[in-house]
Amino acid sequence: MTDPTTAPGRPQPSPAVLAGLARVEAAMRTSSAVLPDVLRRMPKAELHMHIEGSLEPELMFALAQRNGVSLPYPSVEALRAAYDFEDLQSFLDIYYAGASVLLTEQDFFDMAWAYLERAAADHICHTELFFDPQTHTARGVPMAVVVGGLSRACRQAREQLGVHASLILCFLRHLSEEEAFATLEAALPLREHWIGVGLDSSEVGHPPEKFARVFRRCRELGLRVVAHAGEEGPPAYVWSALDVLQVERIDHGVQSAQDPALMRRLAASRMPLTVCPLSNVKLCVFPAMHQHNLPALLETGLCITVNSDDPAYFGGYLNQNFLALFAALPLGPRDAWELAHNSFEAAFIDTTERTLRLQQLDAFFAHWQSAAA
Ligand SMILES: [Zn+2]
Repeated sequence: MTDPTTAPGRPQPSPAVLAGLARVEAAMRTSSAVLPDVLRRMPKAELHMHIEGSLEPELMFALAQRNGVSLPYPSVEALRAAYDFEDLQSFLDIYYAGASVLLTEQDFFDMAWAYLERAAADHICHTELFFDPQTHTARGVPMAVVVGGLSRACRQAREQLGVHASLILCFLRHLSEEEAFATLEAALPLREHWIGVGLDSSEVGHPPEKFARVFRRCRELGLRVVAHAGEEGPPAYVWSALDVLQVERIDHGVQSAQDPALMRRLAASRMPLTVCPLSNVKLCVFPAMHQHNLPALLETGLCITVNSDDPAYFGGYLNQNFLALFAALPLGPRDAWELAHNSFEAAFIDTTERTLRLQQLDAFFAHWQSAAA
């Protein structure tokens, strides 16, 4: 278990939360089911989830049939069997093929709704969905169809599931900055439906500097800005995401651990890192979960969050990420509280909502009682 006293920037639980954490630890001594149950039921936010990466093979085949699209795999089973990736690029090749079934507003709604129902089941009360419009507009699907279906699902989730969901538009970094500018222009008439921009797809060879001008334009427009950096790419990419793109969060960022000066900066500024454990193992960023550096990052005082990235492809949604992480590494209930706390600290929500969410989290732990008591 990590030592809460090592890094001064880390959030500290209130006495009521500490008392609840002590009850959880006591109950853990008699039942191995206690910590997994806490992880599943604690309120949490998800900040790094690509909605196209939530497209399950079953829905992919259903949409292919509905739209008369043929897939290069004969069955759901054959498609799942192909999810044995060597690196980021081998995943991206299948990911872009899968997105070809998405054509109508209803398709985008159905995909987002399926994720949002899973989010509600995982006790996610706030989620920020990445979407890749260029994957769709390049196939002739209008921007309004993409944003229309996704935003309708987000509105309905708030009303029917109690899940607050926002959209973040991602530029594909293997394409040019000019194409990113064209995508931004096409999406601006729909601006009330999305809150910010990100940068995703193939990282190595496409440094953040490539998108300096379009990110400056996005900041001038008052959009929230995030970027993938330091997943497979070097710490230098994290530096330039911070200094050139001036991002508010780093997506992944696990390679920062190679650079002590960068680690000090990330800790001092409480710059959030949206870490995706199952994705990192599936794409061989770490050979196995027990070798993941999340506990070390957390202990250094970084604002670390846990996320699912592309859950349909990487073996699980947010709760499965928490369960796999805590099963393989020396993490305990205080770390669970801190990771959930960080998810609300890092979320793009106003002060009133942040306060409410943090109160709900603290109440969950403060009132926690063993089921056997
Ligand atoms: Zn990602």
